Amino acid sequence: MNPVPLLDLKPQAAAIRDEIDRALRGVVDSQSFILGSEVASFETELAAYVGAAHAIGCASGTDALVLSLHALAVRSGDEIVTTPFSFFASASCAALLGATPVFVDIEPGTFNIDAAKIDDAITFRTKAIVPVHLFGQCAAMDAILETGARLGIPVIEDACQAIGATHASRAAGSMGKTGAFSFFPSKNLGAFGDGGAVTTNDDDLAARLRILRVHGERERYKHEAIGWNSRLDALQAAVLRVKLPHLDAWSSGRVANADRYDRLFTEAGLVARECVHLPVRAPQAGHIFNQYTIRARQRDALGVHLKAQGIGWGIYYPIPLHLQECFGNLGYEPGDMPEAERASREVLSLPIFPELTPSQIERVVAEIAAFFK
Ligand SMILES: *Cc1c(COP(=O)(O)O)cnc(C)c1O
Repeated sequence: MNPVPLLDLKPQAAAIRDEIDRALRGVVDSQSFILGSEVASFETELAAYVGAAHAIGCASGTDALVLSLHALAVRSGDEIVTTPFSFFASASCAALLGATPVFVDIEPGTFNIDAAKIDDAITFRTKAIVPVHLFGQCAAMDAILETGARLGIPVIEDACQAIGATHASRAAGSMGKTGAFSFFPSKNLGAFGDGGAVTTNDDDLAARLRILRVHGERERYKHEAIGWNSRLDALQAAVLRVKLPHLDAWSSGRVANADRYDRLFTEAGLVARECVHLPVRAPQAGHIFNQYTIRARQRDALGVHLKAQGIGWGIYYPIPLHLQECFGNLGYEPGDMPEAERASREVLSLPIFPELTPSQIERVVAEIAAFFK
């Protein structure tokens, strides 16, 4: 019985090992570790990839969100509208600046924020809308951008899981006021540690972001704002520069794996019997499958079965953000976000990494079929 891990980063690293070693040696030889030419080159290449005017490297995806909101002067008393069904940082970025996250429930199909419900959550305090492109599929950006434009509220894309994803042929991170990216190793473009970037088409905002990541200094030791220490390492930039040209091929591999799962689940009768609900692909979305997330009947028992069979899985996310202990002061209660709460009980993410083999996918589906026999 061969285990099937949820994620195995080793085959990808092995395939590009020589290029990576050379790139890392170059940085070590230069002894230039903070920002510098390696980071500047990566920023240029990332901006071109995303189709945005600017990319600004920073320490993490979390920081990319915090820096974006900080650059928009979000502060205490402000409200940020976002989804309750995401990684913690989608909401903590607001709270870290003293602002209040305001949650809007999700669409059951895509798991993304329900654009039709955003209007009701807007107040005179709303300073930004932060849609998350969850699992690698863009939120309903047409409607969200229309709402933002109509109300004069900037849209910050949490594109941390969605590098290379598109919405009606526009790239994630190129549509909003800024886009936030994470290079955490499990993201589609993963560094050898933490890293992140903000993209934007706004020249002034880009200039502000560049100083905010270095203590608010435009000139050495002259501080025009109270900024942060949030920089992308040259070593990480070197790794990311080697990986970026491979990204589209890796994402295609993920999509091919998702297609195979879809087909096998359907052929096994699991979809017709409603044991498994396949991930819904929105018509305008170019999904890059950072996660392949099904809804499963008896999810927890299925998880136990799969674990016993050596098959990896993850639950993203088991507790919706509005019910997190640290947001207790916001006053949300169970039942307030029914779709996010139901998703938390039903979702199961399966192995989807590009190097997964057809027989591994067959094995995952066969074990799920055996459970529902
Ligand atoms: C990973 C992730 C982040 C945070 O990125 P880090 O680099 O881990 O700080 C933010 N939002 C979403 C949706 C993410 O998946």
